[in-house]
Amino acid sequence: MKKVLLDSISQVISAGILVILGFISMFTYSQITDKPFKTVFKDSITFQFPTYVIILIILGFILITSVVSYLRSNSVSSEVKYLKRKIKAFTSDDYRFTYNDIGLLCRYSVSYNNYTGKPFIHNLKLYCNKHTPPMEMFDGDCNVNRCDNRNADINEFSVQRHLESDIIHRWEEYDKKQKKGS
Ligand SMILES: [Zn+2]
Repeated sequence: MKKVLLDSISQVISAGILVILGFISMFTYSQITDKPFKTVFKDSITFQFPTYVIILIILGFILITSVVSYLRSNSVSSEVKYLKRKIKAFTSDDYRFTYNDIGLLCRYSVSYNNYTGKPFIHNLKLYCNKHTPPMEMFDGDCNVNRCDNRNADINEFSVQRHLESDIIHRWEEYDKKQKKGS
């Protein structure tokens, strides 16, 4: 949607520039040839111009369209740079999240999915945080005898979904924060 809007804006701008330039060249032409502006304007509508004027108009058109497309490609590359910076800010192999109420520590990695355009979680490992160092859990349970989490039966898939929802939420909030900051 944003890209479509930018495209139409740049089209309107280039059309506007062309119209203004047209008027300027007509004015200049009327000054050089000492013809009244009105006659030149009439000539322009009926295309009664010498060949060199038509060539100049075509060259001007080519110049303007190349300048506009150059400016557009520049704005696209700044979008790509922004996305790269954003991905860098999110992807890491050292994410941690602690559920203090149940003494659960999650360690995981976040990578970016080019297909969905969103970050995702992998390498999730659950640790019982009631010990020092935290003990890795097996099948959702802590293996330490008499630990409260011995039969915790934590659903790794649910934890992953929760953590991923959180990261996607932060991914979406990131743009708002950047806009506020700039
Ligand atoms: Zn434990």
